Amino acid sequence: MSLTALTETQSEIQKLARDFARAEIVPHADKWDREAHFPVSVAHRMGELGFLGMLLPEQYDGLELDTISYLLALEEIAAADASTAVLMSVHNSLPTQMLLNFGSEDQRAMYLRPMARGEKIGAFALSEPDAGSDASAQRCQAVRDGNSWLLTGTKSWVTSGSFADVIMVMARTDTPDARRGSRGISTFIVTPDLPGFHVGKKEDKMGLRASPTVQLTFDGLRVPAENLLGDEGQGFIYAMRSLDNGRLGIAAQAIGIARAALDAALDYAAERKQFGQPIREFQAIQFKLANMASRITAARALLHATAAAKDRGESTTMHGSMCKLLASETAMYVTTEAVQIFGGYGYVKDYPVEKYFRDAKITEIYEGTSEIQRIVIARELYASRQNH
Ligand SMILES: Cc1cc2nc3c(=O)[nH]c(=O)nc-3n(C[C@H](O)[C@H](O)[C@H](O)COP(=O)(O)OP(=O)(O)OC[C@H]3O[C@@H](n4cnc5c(N)ncnc54)[C@H](O)[C@@H]3O)c2cc1C
Repeated sequence: MSLTALTETQSEIQKLARDFARAEIVPHADKWDREAHFPVSVAHRMGELGFLGMLLPEQYDGLELDTISYLLALEEIAAADASTAVLMSVHNSLPTQMLLNFGSEDQRAMYLRPMARGEKIGAFALSEPDAGSDASAQRCQAVRDGNSWLLTGTKSWVTSGSFADVIMVMARTDTPDARRGSRGISTFIVTPDLPGFHVGKKEDKMGLRASPTVQLTFDGLRVPAENLLGDEGQGFIYAMRSLDNGRLGIAAQAIGIARAALDAALDYAAERKQFGQPIREFQAIQFKLANMASRITAARALLHATAAAKDRGESTTMHGSMCKLLASETAMYVTTEAVQIFGGYGYVKDYPVEKYFRDAKITEIYEGTSEIQRIVIARELYASRQNH
């Protein structure tokens, strides 16, 4: 159903991801969900296959692929398991890209190769208990102490935070008597071996249950000065620029979940008989399936067009937000309709759509809620009018 004319490499990557997902994720995804546990060995295996360095240059052991290839692979992984996909999306879009774009050569040399190979897993710690949509309201404080920074505060909702090896942590480097707003935030490369690092509460979630989402608490976490990423006071800008890319990944995740739900609904509608015929013969079911497929196709077409624009070097802030908004609302719509097509069987764990439904909801929340995406789109619209 994809409208994108794929290159040979893109088709190969898509097939590699699909084969891996069917062989090594699909058979286990329900168990991981039930047990709320993700075996980190799967992430290491993904690294061996190149899925954790898809956008990194070959000089850092990455595959140096175009963005559409990356998103095609992510869609395949998400169709198999949304929890595995969020690890892949965060790792490829946020910490590795922050290091590549804003890190020093020493920092890139130290972290990117093991991250591209999946030997080290990345995470991104921006949110705090009182700083969500308003991410500039950071409280985590970094204070310079000789050749180190001492970090004190709590980061919340950190995806992969319980086993991550390299975490991009945003913290304030301005002082309480001279606050500089979003210009008072810096990014630090934090590793769990640093003194004062503590993994706190693991969230008990509705969906995405296998992905560990944890709090990190720092009580005077001692971070060497050389672990400051880029320039002091630029951390908020680095985080926002990286989220522009991250949103494309979350859109691909949403499309993968929605596609899996549509596939399941198509199969079920062909098998399930009521009133003496398969339910897919009823026009009411046909209309649902047609709406589901149309929305998925539209979301994917916008995503691939935006990815191509990004690779041409164009700014994709507005279209990236549109992708995330459209794809996540599509995922919620499609999974809701899929449950409806399954009737009572859609509401129980014996069939897969119940999990897709639970997993879809998060795509409307993280990396900027749907409300925040609409704000970004409106802001960009107004800015483009002013430039006319
Ligand atoms: C499973 C999961 C994984 C996550 N992973 C990460 C991660 O790896 N790293 C990380 O840093 N964060 C992560 N997050 C955090 C996530 O990005 C935030 O939850 C999200 O940004 C929303 O923030 P909040 O939860 O504080 O909600 P709030 O900001 O409190 O929002 C509550 C409601 O108010 C609305 N709202 C807020 N401001 C406005 C406004 N100006 N106009 C209109 N409506 C508004 C929101 O849209 C929402 O509906 C994760 C969250 C979850 C649940």
